Order: sequence, then structure tokens, then C-alpha cells
Amino acid sequence: MAEIIDGKKCAAGIRAEVARRVEALSSKGVTPGLAAVLIGDDPASRYYVRSKEKACGEVGIYSEVIRRDAGTSQSELLQLVDDLNANPKIDGILVQSPLPEGLDETEVTLRIDPGKDVDGFHPYNIGALSLGLPALAPCTPAGIIEMLIFAKVDTQGKEVVVVGRSNIVGRPVAGLLSLKGPRGNATVTLCHSRTKNIESVCRRADILIAAIGRPEFITAEFVKPGAAVIDVGVNRVEDSSRKSGYRLTGDVDFDAVEKVAGYISPVPGGVGPMTIAMLLSNTVTIAEHRASK
Ligand code: NAP
Repeated sequence: MAEIIDGKKCAAGIRAEVARRVEALSSKGVTPGLAAVLIGDDPASRYYVRSKEKACGEVGIYSEVIRRDAGTSQSELLQLVDDLNANPKIDGILVQSPLPEGLDETEVTLRIDPGKDVDGFHPYNIGALSLGLPALAPCTPAGIIEMLIFAKVDTQGKEVVVVGRSNIVGRPVAGLLSLKGPRGNATVTLCHSRTKNIESVCRRADILIAAIGRPEFITAEFVKPGAAVIDVGVNRVEDSSRKSGYRLTGDVDFDAVEKVAGYISPVPGGVGPMTIAMLLSNTVTIAEHRASK
């Protein structure tokens, strides 16, 4: 049976470290600040923003949530970003996605000051990261790297297969793991919906990362015995036995894969808590930079 990689426990360690860094900053008179912009009333987005706000409060990060209705125009949203770019109390800016139809997410990302781009989505940070230069790493990929370190899964010379090539998870985590250095040095294959013989490609992996958005896509047949399997997916599937009528499941068939893999991260309680922990860590990194000026 696979060892479970407990994302909550790993995230608790990161948050404790973040709290210590916040304290050290406070002795220099600096309080890290995070602003979240929430447009519209998508229930999942509201939930994510509330969780981020609560997490900030727990470690002593100042947080502001700017809520606007779905009728907000592109120019109003850009003005909001400009104001936050200029606000000295705000270190990190995040604009919760998805934005309501009609708003251009790319233009908004480009408008965020790269130095305050706490999600690490700005092309400046993506470019710097891919060159191995200091940059704000996107939170989910950075969290996956921390989970591998926490579980003592070495990446040096390992075969890594990432399924999913999104700009926020698949592509950056593949980039980070292929960088030269102690947290990388892996041989990385990036799969997507056009990949041929995906099952046999995945079975080569010492470390398999699933970021697809398809419930239980990765079955035991995809997994080499002893491999480390990181499940990024968060999917709602109908479940009449639950009061809510649904349950959350990952991209990995946990019950079957747990019997084959050496390590596995659960959903929920795996990558999700790490994403928020890394958001806090990125906010403090920006504030530390401000304090050092
Ligand atoms: P995305 O933008 O929806 O992209 C999905 C990727 O999966 C695409 O590259 C797509 O290939 C690939 N794909 C889809 N069907 C496939 C198939 N049958 N075979 C092989 N590849 C296939 O994904 P995302 O934003 O990265 O999100 C992925 C999942 O992670 C979602 O469930 C999301 O909710 C979850 N997520 C979780 C966290 C967290 O903190 N836990 C954070 C972010 C995302 P093509 O490019 O060819 O279309």
C-alpha cells in the first residue's frame, strides 16, 4: 500500500514557517498584505477567496477582498488593478478566476505589476522561472515541489510524467522539475489530450502528476509499481449519499492506485492545502523584498 502524502500536514509546516517570517517582518515595521479581487458570484470562487482570506488572518497577513458584481467592465477592473499596484499596503494581488464572460483575463494578468504577481501568472515571472532566475512561482506547482520534498521523493534523474499542459499547473510544474538543481534534474514528459499511448507513457513514470480535470482518469494500469503519484485534479461527481448531492474526487482512481503506487496524494487533503500555503509564502516573499529595500 502506498504511503499517503498528507498535504494538510505539509501545508501546516509551511504556514508555521510563514507565520515566523511574518513575525520577523513585523519587528521591522512591515506587515505583508494580500488583495484578492472577486468579480461576480461564482460559488466556488467565493469559497476559494474566503479560504485565502481566512488563511491570511491565521498567519498575520493583512488581507483585503475587493468584491464587484458580474457587470463590472474591463476598464473598471483594470483601474482596480492599477490602484492595487500603487497601494503600498498591498504586496500581492490576485484576481480570482474564472472571470465572468466578457472580461479579458490575459489583459488583467498583464496589468498586474510583476513584482506583486503573487499567483506567478505574469509572463515576466513565467519567463524568469523558465530561465531558472529568481521569480514568483505559481502556487500549485510550487506546492507540488514542496510535497515531494516533504515525502522525501527525490527528483534527481527520475522519469517524471505530467498529464495536463495548462499554464497554471502542468506546464510550470514540468518546467520546474526539469530545471538544473536539487529540486529538479528530472527527465520530464508532458502529456495532453493528443498524446498517443498515454497509458504506457505514464507507466514509465517514477513520479506521475495528474492535472487533467477528469475524475479518476488515472487508473492502476497507468502506474508503475512504487511510483509517486500526485493528484492535482478537483472534480465534483454526483453522490446521492451526500447531503450536498456531490463529492470531490481527483484525477486519480485513489482506491486502485493506492495498491500499486509507492506514494500517493489524496483529494481532498493533498495539493489543495499546499496551493494556499504557497500563496501565503509568495506574499511574504514579496514583503521581504519590500523590507530589504
Ligand atoms: P485545464 O486548463 O483544464 O487543462 C487540462 C489539461 O488536461 C489540458 O492540457 C488537456 O489537454 C489535458 N487533458 C484533458 N483531457 C485529457 C485526456 N483525455 N488525456 C490527456 N490529457 C487530457 O487544467 P488545469 O487548470 O491545470 O486543472 C486541472 C485540474 O486540476 C482541474 O481538476 C482543476 O480543478 C485542478 N486544479 C487544482 C488545483 C489545486 O490547488 N488543487 C489548482 C489548479 C487546478 P489539451 O491541452 O490537449 O486540451
